[in-house]
This record gives sequence, structure tokens and C-alpha cells, in this order.
Amino acid sequence: MNRNEDLFSRAQQSIPGGVNSPVRAFGSVGGTPRFFSRGAGPRVWDVEDRSYLDYVGSWGPLIVGHAHPEVVRAVQDAAARGLSFGAPTEAEVELAEELLRLLPSLEMVRLVSSGTEATMSAIRLARGHTGRDALIKFEGCYHGHSDSLLVKAGSGMLTFGNPSSSGVPADLARHTLVLDYNDPQQLRDAFARHGEQIACVIIEPVAGNMNLIRPTPEFLQTLRELCTQYGSVLIFDEVMTGFRVGLASAQGLFGITPDLSTFGKVIGGGMPLGAFGGRREIMQKIAPLGPVYQAGTLSGNPLSVAAGLAQLKLIQAPGFYDRLTAATQRLCAGLTTAAQENRVAFCAQSVGGMFGIYFRDRIPGNYAAVMECDKTAFNRFFHAMLEDGHYLAPSAFEAGFVSAAHTEADIDATIAAARKIFAQR
Ligand code: PMP
Repeated sequence: MNRNEDLFSRAQQSIPGGVNSPVRAFGSVGGTPRFFSRGAGPRVWDVEDRSYLDYVGSWGPLIVGHAHPEVVRAVQDAAARGLSFGAPTEAEVELAEELLRLLPSLEMVRLVSSGTEATMSAIRLARGHTGRDALIKFEGCYHGHSDSLLVKAGSGMLTFGNPSSSGVPADLARHTLVLDYNDPQQLRDAFARHGEQIACVIIEPVAGNMNLIRPTPEFLQTLRELCTQYGSVLIFDEVMTGFRVGLASAQGLFGITPDLSTFGKVIGGGMPLGAFGGRREIMQKIAPLGPVYQAGTLSGNPLSVAAGLAQLKLIQAPGFYDRLTAATQRLCAGLTTAAQENRVAFCAQSVGGMFGIYFRDRIPGNYAAVMECDKTAFNRFFHAMLEDGHYLAPSAFEAGFVSAAHTEADIDATIAAARKIFAQR
């Protein structure tokens, strides 16, 4: 047994499935997860000291690469001054001000410790604000693991849903309506039927939890108009897309102003941090100003805030997103060409620094289309790339991430590895 296998069997004795978050277990691709011991720039090293070019980046946060010296120094400096106070600090105010400055839709923001907390709190706030209970989400979007969001579509898309996890009360799931992504007519029908009950619509403005799905302009525009018309709160879940698809995030990229937005990942620089914010009139309903309760012992933690501020500074360097976008496009174009040369059914696309690869002929537009990808082909590709030192997300249905630390040479090395693997099929 090698050290990864050793650690994985040991982990399974004390931790359910050996992991602290399910997708890490390689359940969908099979095999033994790599236990990582360190990272630097675009690379990670496992406990056997094998190195990999990393296209997961801790599932999105590490947009400047692993252990960026300025982020590490900011955390070390903050740690030396105290790990947590449970009282306000100046750096929290700075981070809040920075987020407000970068995103015009944010008039006030509250910091939390994870993306799940951000979306859960935003939904409670939307319900408190509107006095309504129902919410709309889209099939294939993930918004963290709070009860109202672990819901699958009911029988027929216009009926309220059923829990998709054991332990979620059916009573709660019946307030969640699950619709198809990129189907404006279905949205119109849902509002026509249930509009007066709908507290909010929550959406990943580029979906990254069913591989990568781009929204059509008509879909987003319809969503904005219906929410305004019916007084429902439009929540953009930008936990993944925030500062990942561009400095203005998805809302800036598509020119749609949500009422509330949620963030995580990039804004924390790799430390536990999330945020939700938006219109002042709504945000003022949060405790201690208003009746909607929300709190956290470690919210706005000084180390997380320091990492976030340091990373937010780095991403504002001139040309940062142009280079990141170009590198990600280079990867997608290179992989597509390599596949075509070898007649592999494959396509790829990117938005800013996130990308999707699909083992199918055409780019998918919703969950059902993504499910038609050849999962077996992906799993084979994943393992061959892993063996060759390229770490992709261990699932055919997750987006991938490039960091500013990936050089053209790194990207080209990954394309060359893929070409070799496609040729061997
Ligand atoms: N929303 C989206 C869009 C996400 O991608 C995720 C996590 N992948 C979450 C919410 C939940 O964030 P966290 O894992 O930090 O709780």
C-alpha cells in the first residue's frame, strides 16, 4: 500500500467516508483520493511527493495560486495579532467597503464563514423581507447544504419539490420549486401560477455545479423582470462566480443587478469566509437592525479577512482578468483541438477563470444535457491525467479552475498530456 492508500483507509476509520466533504472521496471517478501535503503556485504535492498541476484550486478560492507569498504574509501578520476577538475589527470594515466599492449592487454586506451560511442567510432574509415562504431554484445548481436547498424537482416542474437528502423535512422542501435552467417560459409559467407566494429566486449566474452552464441573456433578463414584477427577491449566488469570471463578477459581466448576492471562495483567499449583501432596504432587516436573525462566533474572522483583503488586492492588478481569461481559453481551445485530432467526442468552454469540459459533441445548456455526457470517458480521462500529474476535479459534473499562477507553459503541458491520452484511446 502506498501512503495515500494507507491514509485513506486510516481516515475511513475515524471520518465518514474518510473525507470532510463528499466529493473529495473520488466516489464518482473511483480510486483513492490524493492526500495533499503542500501547494505552491499552480502545483500541489501529495503525501508521496508526486506533484500535480492543479485545476481545482480548492474548488475555486485560489485564484492567485497556492500559498501566494502576499496572502500567506497577510495571514501570518494577522495571526500574530490575535486569532479571533468576537468583537468588531477595522479590517472587517475595510473588506466590507472594498466589496461595496467593487460591486455596485451591494449597498451593505455581512460577513460569514462559508458559502452555505451566506446562501442560507440570504434566503432567510428574503423570506423575512417579503413575508413569503416559497423559493425557486434551478435543477443542477448547488447553493450549499442548508435544508431548503437540498431539494429535487417535484413530479412535473411546476410542483413543489421533495427532499434530495435524508434528514430534510418534506414540510420544508414543499416550499421549494425546482425549475430547468435556461427555460424562460417555464419561469413565466411558474410566476403566473405561484408569483404571489415566491419570496426569492436563487441562481448560480453561471452554473458551476453541473459542470459549467452559461445562462442565456433572455433567461437572466426574464428572471430579473419577473422578480421585479412580483416583488420577489432575486439572489445571485456568486459563491463560485464572484471575482472568478471577472472583477465585476457575473452580475457585472451580464449587466443584471440582483437584489441580494452571496459570495465565498475567492473573497476569502483560501480561508473560511463568505458574505451576503445587496439592497440597503433589505439588508437593514438583519439583526441587530431588524427582525431577521443571523449571527456567527467566528464571522469576519481576522485571518480570513486578512487573506481576503490580500487576494482582492492582487486581482485588481492591471490586466489580471485578461491574462486569466486568456489562459483559461487557451486550455479549452487546446483540449478541444487535441480531442478533435483524435476524433474524441469532446468540447469545452470557459468564462473568465472557470471552465467546463464535456465528453459530448455539443456544449450543454441545462442539467438534462449535461447528464448526457459520457461519464465513463471522463473517468478514464481523469485517471490518465492524474497519473500524468494533472489534477482535474474528480467528477464529470464540476467546473474547473485556472489560477493566475498557471503559465502558458503549464497550460501547454496539460494540453500535451491530454493529446497523448486522447491518442491512446
Ligand atoms: N454556492 C455555490 C454556487 C457553490 O459552488 C458552493 C460550494 N461549492 C456553495 C454555495 C457552498 O459554499 P461552501 O462550500 O463554502 O459552504
